Amino acid sequence: MRVDKEHGLNPTISQCFVCGGGKNDLALLGSSYKGEAPMMMVLDLIPCDDCKKKLCTYPYVVVFEARKDEKDNIVPVGGYVTIHENDYTNIFGDIPKERMLFVDSAVFVELKKAVEDFINKTN
Ligand SMILES: [Zn+2]
Repeated sequence: MRVDKEHGLNPTISQCFVCGGGKNDLALLGSSYKGEAPMMMVLDLIPCDDCKKKLCTYPYVVVFEARKDEKDNIVPVGGYVTIHENDYTNIFGDIPKERMLFVDSAVFVELKKAVEDFINKTN
């Protein structure tokens, strides 16, 4: 890590991309972040301990709307739907180990609509 001339170690708290809460991780960004780092930032796609627990406890898979950035990293854009694991298996097949899936906006919009239609029919 290179220390930033103006912002030193440039610390930020790693933020859970699922719930937006702070994880117990302090990251020192130094000059790798342009300008002063915000107090919290999403640095990876690993949920916080609470969210991990929920993802493992409930019989649901969470599908996140995401895009790829210029370096081909997956970037969640905010939307998500939860799908019961039985339905997930029917649509996608095997349940991912992390019980999360990232899809692009076009797929996400279709999926969200399908889930809403399904809920409207069953209620
Ligand atoms: Zn969380």
